[in-house]
Amino acid sequence: MEIEHRLYIGGRFVPAEDGATLPSLNPHDNTPLADVSMAGKVDIDKAVEAARAAFPKWSRTAAAERGRLLLKLAERMEEHAEELARLETLDTGHPLRDTRALDAPRTAATFRYFGGMADKFEGSVIPVEAGFLNYLLREPLGVVGQVVPWNFPLMFTSWKMAPALAAGNCVVMKPAELTPLSSLRVAELMAEVGFPEGVVNIVPGLGAVAGQYLAEHPGVAKIAFTGSTATGRRIVQASSGNLKKVQLELGGKGANIVFDDANLAAAVNGSAFAIFHNQGQACIAGSRLLLQERIADAFLAEFLPLARSIRLGNPIEPATEMGPLTSTVHRDRVLSYVRVAKDEGGEVLLGGAPPDRSELSRGCYVEPTVVRAKPADRVYQEEVFGPFVTVTTFREDDEALALANGTEYGLGGGLWTANVQRAHRFAREMKSGMVWINCYKRVNPASPFGGTGSSGYGREMGFEAMREYTQAKSVWVNIDAQIPAYYPRQD
Ligand code: NAD
Repeated sequence: MEIEHRLYIGGRFVPAEDGATLPSLNPHDNTPLADVSMAGKVDIDKAVEAARAAFPKWSRTAAAERGRLLLKLAERMEEHAEELARLETLDTGHPLRDTRALDAPRTAATFRYFGGMADKFEGSVIPVEAGFLNYLLREPLGVVGQVVPWNFPLMFTSWKMAPALAAGNCVVMKPAELTPLSSLRVAELMAEVGFPEGVVNIVPGLGAVAGQYLAEHPGVAKIAFTGSTATGRRIVQASSGNLKKVQLELGGKGANIVFDDANLAAAVNGSAFAIFHNQGQACIAGSRLLLQERIADAFLAEFLPLARSIRLGNPIEPATEMGPLTSTVHRDRVLSYVRVAKDEGGEVLLGGAPPDRSELSRGCYVEPTVVRAKPADRVYQEEVFGPFVTVTTFREDDEALALANGTEYGLGGGLWTANVQRAHRFAREMKSGMVWINCYKRVNPASPFGGTGSSGYGREMGFEAMREYTQAKSVWVNIDAQIPAYYPRQD
């Protein structure tokens, strides 16, 4: 299959106006996959214009018809699931076993969920004073700009676009410069199933140029962003010109707490998945292990050998359990945190280096890494975004809660315990948008997803996402009220 590498604007694939391109690399060996067009300001203007032109018709299209197209897309994606999974693996380094089992089917499932939602998301009637009917319309916002990172590019097409389109908005999406290929393939599938031209526009480009300009653009009604907290702050500033609505899904530093009454085998396996899935490049990764002192040694005696046994290798091989990080720059950043940990006096319990295997030497690989850390350490406080987990011990519940809540982030966190009272108390008191009890990193299109604090604001998924992509309009109708004249006159 020819890999589509041009911008998708107004229903057509076109090169960037100035001809700029950037190679997208296979992180297994850094060989180029495609030279991808990079949108500049002129291209962003064109994409916003195309979306604005499409909006009046799309927003008035019957919700059931918008839903039908999303359902058709979900089906088409399932027909192309293997191809989408392979493309995602080549571009990102996710193991094929995951892109097959998780990324491709979940992307289709999310488009399907919001396809079904399109004509079931209702306004309401508000009980006001007698004589009046007051009702609430949920209206689409207009053109929505969406900027996404490189860690789950295929899934993010559905997280971001599906609710926006179901609600009647038009979209300009900027994928990450490192991983634009799967979103361009999704654009092709959208065109095939009949999305009208201009409703969706996909414009790969540099963050500081295309992303920044999209966030500033006066023709954009909302900017929905997933990425780092530092960029999130820039997006907020850029949005101020036309006071566009902003939604932010930012970084995380997930606390994963294991109590001494937990099912140890389940906690060990779940905790390894929590951090090592997708090489730890997940905002909801369980990157801080908090272990109750009494079981800490027993836990590590099982956890470390399990982590050591994870099959690291070329992600396109079906047996591979962990692939490379998505870029060399990012691999070096993750490795720099190993040096930080050592400088802070943290003991490296496992890994901390690229694997010593010649066949992986050209890729962006890092071994599963486990480091002891104290709450004040940088590696405990800062998001590493790699296969890098800190271990800290605690004695009692209150100490565990304070440790869990002791960073600027608040995205996802979890605990392993048999004590129901404790489980629900922690669920209430953890500063976290999502809490997992005796599991970790569960995600479903029906369940709201998002954070607090430096992890951002707004929610994706579920009915919450539909609210985020609409605005309320309150309509008053006088049905039989006698309104006394405010300016009574005799004559
Ligand atoms: P990043 O912020 O550098 O980039 C994310 C996106 O923003 C990319 O498309 C990039 O091109 C763009 N961008 C960069 N500078 C910009 C600017 N000035 N204006 C507008 N757009 C700009 O993040 P990253 O390093 O690529 O991604 C990893 C980060 O994303 C991690 O911190 C991770 O926690 C976060 N993340 C959060 C979630 C979530 O749902 N909360 C999900 C995945 C990743």
